[in-house]
Amino acid sequence: MVIEKKYCLHCNAPIQGRIDKKFCDDNCRNSYNNQQNALTTNYIRRVNHSLKKNRNILEGLIPTGEEMAKTTRDRLLRDGFQFKYFTHLYETKKGNVYHYCYDYGVLALEGDWFLVVKGKEV
Ligand SMILES: [Zn+2]
Repeated sequence: MVIEKKYCLHCNAPIQGRIDKKFCDDNCRNSYNNQQNALTTNYIRRVNHSLKKNRNILEGLIPTGEEMAKTTRDRLLRDGFQFKYFTHLYETKKGNVYHYCYDYGVLALEGDWFLVVKGKEV
């Protein structure tokens, strides 16, 4: 018979007792869960920050009083735009897919050009 040694997920101490036990005790369980929650909170905070930054970059590219602007991939990247972060997609009847960051959207055009548009709740 193979006896699998189990170790506490928090402190790595060998665990005695029930096979489904994951922690030495409640302290270890609580510490572990708090740590996991903190990691999740940090991750969410980072993503939220990136989304807001993306939105502000798009906002900054549209001249005051205008509704849209053309820009390049280089310019977006230089400003720190992260293409992997967006809040939602909007597909037009023509099949163009806008990537939105809250109230600003960006559409890939020919070459490395992009169209940046302002708002309209979608
Ligand atoms: Zn432990």
